Amino acid sequence: MSGAVSTDDLVACIRAFRDAVHARKDELTRLDSEIGDADHGSNMARGLDAVVAKLDPAPASPSDLFKTVGMTLVSSVGGASGPLYGTLFLRMGPTLGVETEVDAATLGAALRAGVEGVVARGKAELGDKTMIDALSPALDAWDAAAAEGLAEAARAAADAAARGRDATEPLVARKGRASYLGERSAGHLDPGATSATLLLEALRDTLAGAA
Ligand code: ADP
Ligand code: MG
Repeated sequence: MSGAVSTDDLVACIRAFRDAVHARKDELTRLDSEIGDADHGSNMARGLDAVVAKLDPAPASPSDLFKTVGMTLVSSVGGASGPLYGTLFLRMGPTLGVETEVDAATLGAALRAGVEGVVARGKAELGDKTMIDALSPALDAWDAAAAEGLAEAARAAADAAARGRDATEPLVARKGRASYLGERSAGHLDPGATSATLLLEALRDTLAGAA
């Protein structure tokens, strides 16, 4: 990899995200049992299994890949997280056109379009104790580090996502099922911020060593 990430690299990232969700499935479900309905691990694992089943043969471009991922998540994951993760990927695709390789600035712009789509759909703001608390700081960190290349941008974004995830613990949820608990939602990590951090970490690990 030299300054650009290929479709194959991004396919590897999606596979790594699937593997990470499977490895942490029980933890995601436990977090969702504390402030939700105990299905986030199984929702994400089922959805990503359906996604990975569609990646052989690999899509022709990053844009096609993200479209496939998004459509599959929307159609195979019930609950809030399917449409929201689906929107993230569906909005990323069109920004990339027909390019088969993307650089740090271009992937950052795609991520921004994706996260803006999640905000438009779910109406969550930073601090509402949702996946946005991991995704939004990750995006800002990516942009700040993009000039240093893909590996550095992805490392900074994964670190920021993890800090955002950790910061959800004391928060009172204002969106999604956890908000029904009111003050009792405080004292637990948000499951969606936890899975979103796994996505950024998968990207970091895939791009480690990229220029
Ligand atoms: P459900 O809540 O329908 O059972 P999941 O358990 O799969 O769906 O996903 C729950 C996660 O979805 C939450 O932890 C939160 O991060 C995320 N979420 C819920 N509502 C919203 C929203 N309006 N905007 C952004 N993220 C949300
Ligand atoms: Mg749930």
